[in-house]
Amino acid sequence: MDSRRCLELLVRPQPREPAPWRRARSGLGLALVLCLALQAGSCRSGPDPIPDQALAALTAVGRPARYLESNHRGPKVAPGDTVTARFAKSLHAAFEEQRAMALVKFVDGYYRSPGNEGYEAVLEKLHGQLAAAGFGTDPRLKLFFIETPLEAPHWGKSGRFPVKAWTPLAGSLVLHGAGEPKTLHAFDQPSGIDRVMLPVHCDSFEIEGPVASNLESVTKGSLLVTSAVPSRALLSRAHAMGALGVVSGYLETYNQDPLGKNRHLDAIHYHQLPASTPLPVLMISPRSLEIIAQAAKRPEGAKLKAMGQVRWDDRKLRTLAAVVQGTDRAQEAVTVASHVQEPGACDNASGVAGLAESAISLAGLLAKETLAWPSRSLVFLWGDEFRQTSAWLDSTDMTPVAGLSSDMTGESMEKTGAIALLERMPDPAALVYLPPDEHTPWGKKEVSPDSLLPNALAVIARCALIDVANVAGSTWTTAEHPYEGGSDHDIFIERKIPTALFWHFTDFAYHTSLDRMDMVDAKEMRRTAAAILSTALVLADPKPTDLDRILRSLDAEQQVRVQAAEAAGDPELKERWLQWCTAAREWARIECLRIRPDQR
Ligand SMILES: [Zn+2]
Repeated sequence: MDSRRCLELLVRPQPREPAPWRRARSGLGLALVLCLALQAGSCRSGPDPIPDQALAALTAVGRPARYLESNHRGPKVAPGDTVTARFAKSLHAAFEEQRAMALVKFVDGYYRSPGNEGYEAVLEKLHGQLAAAGFGTDPRLKLFFIETPLEAPHWGKSGRFPVKAWTPLAGSLVLHGAGEPKTLHAFDQPSGIDRVMLPVHCDSFEIEGPVASNLESVTKGSLLVTSAVPSRALLSRAHAMGALGVVSGYLETYNQDPLGKNRHLDAIHYHQLPASTPLPVLMISPRSLEIIAQAAKRPEGAKLKAMGQVRWDDRKLRTLAAVVQGTDRAQEAVTVASHVQEPGACDNASGVAGLAESAISLAGLLAKETLAWPSRSLVFLWGDEFRQTSAWLDSTDMTPVAGLSSDMTGESMEKTGAIALLERMPDPAALVYLPPDEHTPWGKKEVSPDSLLPNALAVIARCALIDVANVAGSTWTTAEHPYEGGSDHDIFIERKIPTALFWHFTDFAYHTSLDRMDMVDAKEMRRTAAAILSTALVLADPKPTDLDRILRSLDAEQQVRVQAAEAAGDPELKERWLQWCTAAREWARIECLRIRPDQR
């Protein structure tokens, strides 16, 4: 048994007037502490795994293993008013849904692409709202932009190269066949519902030609109409065969309407092209794909007339940073990033607005001294996914200690089918996952065993989801899953910084034209935002009194993981989880007791 148990029992406040059995127990507990203290002396040379039966003995004798009931699919957490329970109530209460939804609506009004008109308009709006809340004027609330080169993948090259900012202005697709010409898709406003018919980096064009229903039937001057994703390979071949353009009605398998109402038939998939793609590409809905296919089958065949109008601007890529300066460890930073680019209301106007509202309401709570200024600094980032986090990490003189990603935080479960999810950074389940873990349709990402970085951040995040559910007065459905990747947490993982992603899935409208305001649930965005900021505030100011609840919650996780590995007959996995939990306890001890590197 290692020293933590001693500390844990030591930090746990003993009941004032212990009942006789309590006296017996605490007598027994005391005996236990003494022998542990003796033991602890001997294991300074590094933590030993806690033998299961000892753990069982502790829980059986020292303290009842009582965990919070919740609607969270994952390990339970211990009860208590510490860790994220210190913040969940005041943060959830302070979050102004109307103000946040007005910001979602503003962001949703634009098809944001890095550095483009909409992206810049959103950054200016955020800057204005944060400044009005004191950022940039209060010396403890900083507000600034980080500028980096605007780059993107280019056709026929690997890597990223300078590019101009791309703003879609208008587009239309008209079918000419039997009868009157039929406009299948069109937009000429930034907020137009069909705006994603133009994939990012598609250049301006005006084309007209016969429909080719498959690659083999492409002739010079025709337009290939396909359900396939417009991949580089497909575009190269169509271009080589003389196609004027490619029209794709591609959707991902998870874009199927979970309510069975076929809403996905009107979904246009959001797609990004490498810059300088040699031919125009349009995205259309499955319904339009079917209409064209039917028209093309008729003897007179079908012809398409398509137009796309875009603007390119020379711009730097900007990342907006708002900092809540810490008190005694202001040089250490906990970062929360939320990407602005992409056209969706849930992905990611909700993450952007939820984080902004969190920063603004937090400034209010600090000013009113409802909450104390954290020990470490909090850094909020808005910008281009991945690039915003690397821009900050590359430019800061602060020491990053943890990072979170606020991405897709406001999905209506009723409308989209998506629930709130905690994506843990790589842990043993990223190698082998067992129930209650399940992967989302997004899919697992391979990680190497030696990339694991044990910590208890996911336990704190799990407490946050459950604590917010308790204060939000709702049976909030949440879950968690092993690492999958695909958001700013990837950058923190690359830089070996503890991290987690808060998102929602499976969202059938994800990355389609259907991801608009009617898919956003203000209360869902509020709950998720409160969970994200509660987690960040604990990481920015972990207390000794947090240690007990974190350790007991880690016990709960260890039990779940070890039992699952034993049930699966996987001793290697069991050993990995024992080592992970032991090192995570050490991380929690160091964080909560503020043990300096020279004291370890
Ligand atoms: Zn996203």
